[in-house]
Amino acid sequence: MSSMTAATRLPRLYLSPPHMSGREQQYVQQVFDSNWIAPLGPQVDAFEAEFAAAVGARHALALSSGTAALHLALIHLGVGPGDEVLVSTLTFSASANPVVYLGARPVFIDSEHTSWNLDPALVVETIERKARGGRLPKAVIPVHLYGQSADLDPILEVCGRYEIPVIEDAAEALGATYQGRSPGTLGQAGIYSFNGNKIITTSGGGMLVSADGELIAHARKLAQQARDPAPHYQHSEIGYNYRLSNVLAGIGRGQLEILAERVRRKQEIFAAYRQLLGDLPGIAFMPEAPWGRSTRWLTVITVDPAQFGATREDIRLALEAENIESRPLWKPMHLQPVFQGCEVVGGSVAEALFRDGLCLPSGTAMTESDIERVADVLRTMGRR
Ligand SMILES: *Cc1c(COP(=O)(O)O)cnc(C)c1O
Repeated sequence: MSSMTAATRLPRLYLSPPHMSGREQQYVQQVFDSNWIAPLGPQVDAFEAEFAAAVGARHALALSSGTAALHLALIHLGVGPGDEVLVSTLTFSASANPVVYLGARPVFIDSEHTSWNLDPALVVETIERKARGGRLPKAVIPVHLYGQSADLDPILEVCGRYEIPVIEDAAEALGATYQGRSPGTLGQAGIYSFNGNKIITTSGGGMLVSADGELIAHARKLAQQARDPAPHYQHSEIGYNYRLSNVLAGIGRGQLEILAERVRRKQEIFAAYRQLLGDLPGIAFMPEAPWGRSTRWLTVITVDPAQFGATREDIRLALEAENIESRPLWKPMHLQPVFQGCEVVGGSVAEALFRDGLCLPSGTAMTESDIERVADVLRTMGRR
């Protein structure tokens, strides 16, 4: 019985699998032809230059992950034991972990309703309260979730006024815009991820960008075991091995070339879902804020169980039964066992989004019939 079911099952639909263009292999071939099978090398240099141009950043540093990029930015800014760093609570743990690597404490801030990202009003309120207490946060980390920019202007304004650096976590927002510019390039530093499920991937990797040449030069040194300029091995600070491989940078170059195409396809997939599901009572889509363009990296819905007749978990299980992967939104950091005891400001917006939100398969290689396959599951449930 179960083997028959397995045999008749359609292939698994994943949330956001890698989607190669074919160009990647040409760059990887160059790596093999030149025997630059090493960390660093000409593909890394080219990837950094091309990436900086693509997002409009002055400097870019290719690294082994987005998490490593955030870690190095925080080190450069002098974040250390006992310091506080404001972080979005609705995010992946990698936005907050590097704060803890350094012995500092994250202060989690709730989302607003327009973009589901960091609420600027709460950032202002928290910074002013901390200022009255005589102890300012050492940095602020806004996160740009699911392909959409946070409302950066008011965050940059208050942080500028108190001289608090802003590090943007743009891991999920490559290709998005904020007032016509790329999120990730408006703060003191920005980080991007090329993990397997991101809009472009190198299998694993990350990028740190900044207009501050000193920040990037220091991060570059730290990423290479903090070697001082000397013919022998000399070190005057603790280093890390965070470089991106020249092989993987070749994949990144091929992926970057088709970024615009991938953004277009993500937006088409969202439009198709909205067409097929938009009339279902109790189903709503992640809003697009007026300040920019979302890539729709993932199509995200919220479910009102009273109107729809089923919860987001019912939907997730029904999709799973059809061999379709879907996923709840990020579980807010202030609800994570590992961050128990951390300060949180607000939290009810992120909690409601976690309770009711579901990410649907959004891979750019999906066909129209794949999208219908997902939508059919929801439409069948909705009619009950
Ligand atoms: C993926 C992701 C990261 C981490 O990137 P890695 O390259 O996997 O280290 C950080 N923040 C957010 C919001 C992410 O989605």
